[in-house]
Amino acid sequence: MEVWFTEQQHPGLRLTCKVLQTLHRETTPFQEIVVLDTEQFGRMLVLDGAIQATIADEFVYHEMLAHVPICSHHHPKDVLIIGGGDGGCAREVLRHQQIGSVTQVEIDQRVVEVSKQFLPELACSFDDPRMSVCFEDGIAFVKDREACYDVILVDAPDPVGMAAGLFSREFYESLYRALRQDGIFAAQMESPFFDQELIERVYAGVSSIFPIAGLYLASIPTYPSGFWSFLTGSKQYDPAQGPAKTAGSMAGQGLRYYNPELHRAAFVLPQFVQALLKQEAKP
Ligand code: SAM
Repeated sequence: MEVWFTEQQHPGLRLTCKVLQTLHRETTPFQEIVVLDTEQFGRMLVLDGAIQATIADEFVYHEMLAHVPICSHHHPKDVLIIGGGDGGCAREVLRHQQIGSVTQVEIDQRVVEVSKQFLPELACSFDDPRMSVCFEDGIAFVKDREACYDVILVDAPDPVGMAAGLFSREFYESLYRALRQDGIFAAQMESPFFDQELIERVYAGVSSIFPIAGLYLASIPTYPSGFWSFLTGSKQYDPAQGPAKTAGSMAGQGLRYYNPELHRAAFVLPQFVQALLKQEAKP
């Protein structure tokens, strides 16, 4: 008998993968956590029915979320990660020797524990002495922080339920306050094909809060449309200019997606995506 997992990616679109084994399934106070072994993408973390990360393509997402903002900053030391319980984002951040501390705020402790058990390729950095992990709501956590971080990475799921506030104007105002005077953030920003209103709204808001806002793209096969966007807001450095001269070399680190040329190229947007960035911020 064959077993297939289907994610409803959009009202008229589903992605179906052949399942070799269901490795884990539980419901926490926050969400349903499932880990599958699939024929096409290897092990896969699924939260509330939505694919979060697969062994086959997680490197694209995590390298682009972490290295673009960190390499754009001239002297990054302290990093905050919001969400990201699978550990893939922290793994990438900690490749940078100049990073002195990483604080991660994940609402659901079980995502970290399950990822350590079933996805050790991602959850391999939680014991790094530079890491500290808090299990609480990232929106509340960042509200009270002032000028504490050089880089903030928002590794959020889709903008529904407890994650909806991670896409709100108030949240980006909190990020602005929590960043130092030359700080920069990056956040995953869904699909330019399917989430145009979200991208328009959030980009307009961020560009009215930060002096520099930018959107960049990457190809991620298991995410809806396979065409994914990331949003940055920066107080001083323009990430579209490419990595800073002071950025540590990522050569020899075994990266599979990010390189300095791709960093710059990722900010070159198709016409229909550029059009999304021309909207005015709504009060
Ligand atoms: N790459 C992923 C994606 O977009 O599909 C995101 C992965 S990561 C597993 C997302 C994490 O954010 C989840 O573990 C979830 O528990 C956490 N999360 C959701 N809302 C949160 C909040 N308000 N504060 C902190 N963490 C949150």
